[in-house]
Amino acid sequence: MVKIGVLGLQGAVREHVQAIGAAGAVAIIVKHAEQLKELDGLVLPGGESTTMRKLIDRYDMMEPLRHFAAEGKPMFGTCAGLILLAQNVMGQQTPHIGVMDVVVKRNSFGRQVDSFEIPLTLKNIGENFPAVFIRAPHIVSVGANVEVLAEYDGRVVLAKDGQFLGCSFHPELTEDQRIMVYFVQMVEQCVLSKLAKQ
Ligand code: GLN
Repeated sequence: MVKIGVLGLQGAVREHVQAIGAAGAVAIIVKHAEQLKELDGLVLPGGESTTMRKLIDRYDMMEPLRHFAAEGKPMFGTCAGLILLAQNVMGQQTPHIGVMDVVVKRNSFGRQVDSFEIPLTLKNIGENFPAVFIRAPHIVSVGANVEVLAEYDGRVVLAKDGQFLGCSFHPELTEDQRIMVYFVQMVEQCVLSKLAKQ
């Protein structure tokens, strides 16, 4: 089984740990940079991106996270996690980890309807996925090599950029494990292709 970490500084950590287990991989809560070395993939959970960024800096994890990305290992960001991955966050001069070729806009689904659930069709994954949006960001534009996997209301809400998967909503808050299964398969393929090259 592949080992997938969940960045455990803030946010919906436990829910992702359960989802990873249900999707057939080993889940590890990551609180220190050294733990990244033993992982095949990493989930960045939803929460509050500004708070998570402060904690990443406080625990000296920014360079290790960028190194993890540079090694080609898969990373999956949900909601605030997507904001951490994006190369460009609207209204911000510099990104956070800044590795996924997308521009994101925070809190873009309006303040009045802070939270809602909607069934979505996800390319390569399936139909009727119960997508839970909580003060969600959306992907404003994507780079040439980014595959758009879902849109809602004319906005991109799920996309894949090679090793990076980014999602506006919260798959970990539903019983539907199809997106996590998809990510686990990305991680398995990455491990297999590395083995084949050795
Ligand atoms: N609005 C939050 C942010 O900007 C994200 C919300 C979430 O992760 N549910 O970080």
